[in-house]
Amino acid sequence: MGRLIHGIGLIIIGLMLLSANQPGTVPERPDDAMKITIIYDNYPGSHPLETDWGFACRVEYLGDKLLFDSGGKADLYQKNAEALKVSPEDFPALFISHAHGDHTGGMGWIVERNPSIMCYLPATFAMQLKNRGSLPERYMAVAEPTHLFGPFYSTGDQFDQFPEQGLVVRTGQGGVLVTGCGHPGVLEMVSKVKEEMGIGLHAVIGGLHLLRTSDREVQQIAEELKQMGIRYICPTHCTGDKAIGILKASFGEGYIAGGTGTEIVIE
Ligand SMILES: [Zn+2]
Ligand SMILES: [Zn+2]
Repeated sequence: MGRLIHGIGLIIIGLMLLSANQPGTVPERPDDAMKITIIYDNYPGSHPLETDWGFACRVEYLGDKLLFDSGGKADLYQKNAEALKVSPEDFPALFISHAHGDHTGGMGWIVERNPSIMCYLPATFAMQLKNRGSLPERYMAVAEPTHLFGPFYSTGDQFDQFPEQGLVVRTGQGGVLVTGCGHPGVLEMVSKVKEEMGIGLHAVIGGLHLLRTSDREVQQIAEELKQMGIRYICPTHCTGDKAIGILKASFGEGYIAGGTGTEIVIE
C-alpha cells in the first residue's frame, strides 16, 4: 500500500484515493483526512532519515495539530523535524505519552523554540519534572481521561501496568489511538477509550510493546482488537519484529508500516 511521493512514504487508506493516484503525483486528500507523520522511529520509513530507538510524530486533523512525543536524542529529533519541515513554533501543543527517555529527548528543544507551547504531560511525569524543577512554562498534568482541545483527547495515565497516556483523535470516521510505548497494554488502552470515554476506535498507531509477548498471545490480541472495531493498525517502535509480523498477517490490508518519515493518512 505504500508508495513514494516526493520522498515520503505515503499510505492511504481508502480505495477511492488509491485508484485515483498516479505514481509521482501528490494525491488529493479530502479535507477531513487525519494525517500522522512519524518524525522519530527505530524503523526506517521510505524517507531517507536516520533511525534511532524512540518514537515521535506529528498529528493533524481538520486544522488542529500537535506534536506527539519527542524521540530519544535531542539533536536527531531536531534534524528529523527540520527535514520534515516541522517547526515547534507552528504547534500549539506537545503531548508526552510517558516519562521514558526515548520519548522525551527532544522536549527541551521543542519548549526552547516555542516557550508558550502547551505541554500535556502524564500526571506522574509532571510530578517528576516538578521535583527536578524543570516543568515547562505551560503544562497540564493529565491523570484522568480528558478532552484536550479540538479533536484531541487523553486516556489519562492511570493504568495498572504503567503510567502512560494514549492520545485519542476523534474523527468523523472513528477514533484513532496513538500510543508511545503502549506499556499499559494495547487492549487495556483500547477498552478504556471505549468504555470510560465512550469513543469507538478504528485505528491504533504507535509502539505496542509486545517484544516479550508469546506469538499465541499476540495472535489473541490481534483478534480481540478486531473484535473491538480496530480495522487499521500501525505497530512500530517497541512492538517487536515478530509481533509486527503477526499483526501484519492478521490485519492484512489494514496493516500500515511505520518508520521514520512515514506519512499515514486516514480518511
Ligand atoms: Zn519507547
Ligand atoms: Zn517506554
